[in-house]
Parts: sequence; structure tokens; C-alpha cells
Amino acid sequence: MLATDNLIFQTTFSSSEEIRVKESAFTSGVYSKRNVAIVRGQGARLWDADGKEYIDCVGGQGAGNIGHANPAVAEAIYKQAMTIISCPEMFYNDQRALLEEKLCGITGMARVFLCNSGTEAVEAGIKFAKLLTGRTGIVAAMRGFHGRTYGALSATWEKKYRAPFEPLVPNYSHIPYNDLDALKQAVTDQTAAVILEVVQGEGGVNPGKADFLKGAQDICHQNGALLIIDEVQTGFGRTGKMFAHQHYGLQPDILCLAKSIGGGIPMGAALLSANMKELPSAVHGSTFGGNPLACAASLAAINFIEENQLPEHAAELGDWFKDQLATIQSPLIREVRGKGLMVGIELKQKVTPYLQKLMENGVMALPAGLTVMRFLPPLVITQSELEIVVAKVREVLTSNTEGCE
Ligand SMILES: *Cc1c(COP(=O)(O)O)cnc(C)c1O
Repeated sequence: MLATDNLIFQTTFSSSEEIRVKESAFTSGVYSKRNVAIVRGQGARLWDADGKEYIDCVGGQGAGNIGHANPAVAEAIYKQAMTIISCPEMFYNDQRALLEEKLCGITGMARVFLCNSGTEAVEAGIKFAKLLTGRTGIVAAMRGFHGRTYGALSATWEKKYRAPFEPLVPNYSHIPYNDLDALKQAVTDQTAAVILEVVQGEGGVNPGKADFLKGAQDICHQNGALLIIDEVQTGFGRTGKMFAHQHYGLQPDILCLAKSIGGGIPMGAALLSANMKELPSAVHGSTFGGNPLACAASLAAINFIEENQLPEHAAELGDWFKDQLATIQSPLIREVRGKGLMVGIELKQKVTPYLQKLMENGVMALPAGLTVMRFLPPLVITQSELEIVVAKVREVLTSNTEGCE
């Protein structure tokens, strides 16, 4: 095993501020950034360039389920990098063969297309649905988030992501999430697919209702449309099962994965169920898709998740965490909700200042929409770390609450 405690850590910068100034001078500007430079991580802990320690409930925005500097994945990456990194899919590869078998084993799906991000997984899923059905309509949900390339963006709801880039791809429609009647109305014999998250992430940590999700599957079957489940954020143990759709016994026709799939290495996948016809060759592809480095990292990450029973851990700890947060008495809180270690606190006002205060208090969390404080800790987080998180959240949401009713 390689060093596990960042023994080789070094940076040429002397402070967070120095890094911020340099990065600000050269970055595109499309990201709204926090005033902190993170240079190191370990499990569920982060350190900035000034040496300040944080408990991480951002979890790489969902890409960090196995924890930072995970030695099993670090070792797999190192070994694969010393063996072969570039091997496009015009050749077969040992790591890719093993990973595709593994992904099918843990999902019950039959075939895998590998890519490099969530939006690419959704893009592939939508293209495959059009190919497989010969139809063009896509039905998605309001407040859904599926990525930012054109096909995926067209399924994404939030206006601020869409408006600057219109016109988007035609024949998309959006129904209110958890509204089965609206979905019934929207799905026709022109519908290629319905695309849904099992728990809406970006849209505010909104868990799907069992009736809605199962009903969506039935509606798809009745109309010859495909069900695309987007588990880019909910996958790999996050909600207390390896995949969130397994809570409801759903059988997606197409399953989109990314974020934590590669143990932190960029990767995505669109999986097809056994009832799907084989795809014609050369209709889609990606230079980096299925590269052996990402495949080796992914295999090690999935093995780590299984061996350490991270889904079970997320289920138990998530319930406990949600209960603890629910004990916080604050006029700011509208609702605490979530599934497993995907948890949100909806506030009655904008969340950004409270996230800032939380960060100053040593806890990193992220927003979901304008008013929801979202927690996506690495699934290796311990109960004592989460106890600190609860205490800090309590502090931040119960002091300085003047001005709220
Ligand atoms: C993050 C996310 C995406 C997009 O993933 P990227 O890797 O950022 O392109 C798609 N769907 C869901 C549900 C997500 O949470």
C-alpha cells in the first residue's frame, strides 16, 4: 500500500490567498467560488493552504463517496498508470472488461457504455433511447438536473442554466416531479424516454415517491417509452443502497452513472438493460471513454464500497444524522429531508450566508437551489465527525436569527 496520510503532500504556495489570486487571474469565470483553496484531503477531512481543517460534507459534489486519499484507489491508479493509461475502445482491455462485468453485476443491467462525466452519461442515455425507439420525445421533471451539454441541458429544468443557450434540443417536456397524472398526460406514442432522478439533487434534495417512480415505470411500459434513471448523484451507496432505484425495485431501461463511479477520477456510464436491442456500431463514442486508468480506479472504488459496506453505513448514519438535524429548533428551518447520506435542510431564506458561516466554523456543505443546505459527505464519515457537523449546523442556524419570524 502507498502512504495513507498525505506523506508526499507539498505545495509551492504559502497561503490560500496566493492561490486564489493566481487562479482568479486565469480561470474562465463560470464558477462562483468560495474564498478558500483546498490542497489536501483524508477520508472526510479537508485542509486549506493555510492549514485549516474542515469536515467535508461537499464530498466532491457527490464524486467523493469513498473518501479523500483513499489508499485502495490511489494504489490502483498508481499501478494502472505504470501499466497503461491510454487504450481507446478500438481495442479490448483487461480493466475495462472487468469493470463492465462488475457494473452489470451490481446494477442488474446488461451492457455498458463508458464515458467521462455525468452529462455525457445522460447525453448517451438520451441518444440511445432515440436510437432504440425511433422516437424523439423526452419527458423530464421540473427541478430535475441532468447536466449541461445540449441534450442533457434540455432535460435540466433550472432556467438560469438553460436561458442563455436557447434554442435547446426540441421535443423535451417537463412535468412536476412526483405528479403521476401529469406524467400520464405527457407520455405519448412519440415519447422516446422519461428521464428521472430517484432523489432530485441540485433541485433541492427532493426524494421521489415510491408510487410516482413505480408508476413512471408502468407508464413507460404502457407507451413503449424507455425509463432512463439518472443516478449520477444517488449512485454508489449515497442513499443507503448501492443504487437508489433499488429501494423501489425499479428496472430502468437505461441507467446513467457518474460522480462517484471512478473513485474521484472523471468517469461516467450509460447502462442498458437486457431487453434493449444491441446498438448499431459507430453511432456514438468517446476518445477517453473506458480508458484503463478510470476503469482501474472504478473497480477499486466499487470493491472498496462493497468491502466496507458503505451503503449500509450510509443508511444507518443517514437516518441518525437526519434525526439529529431535525432536533435543531430554529425559525430558519422549513424542513429536513433526504435519503441515506444525501440530506438537505430547506431554509426559509437564501442559504449562501449560512454555508459561508458553516465553512468559517470548519464544515463544508453545499447548496441545492437557493434555499437548501445540502450534505453529501464521503460515505466513510464517522458518527463522531457527523456529531461535530450537527453541532456546527445548530450553532449557525440558531445564532443570528433575528429578522426571521
Ligand atoms: C451532477 C449531475 C449530473 C451532471 O454530471 P457532470 O459530471 O457534472 O456532468 C447529471 N445528473 C445528475 C443527477 C447530477 O447530479
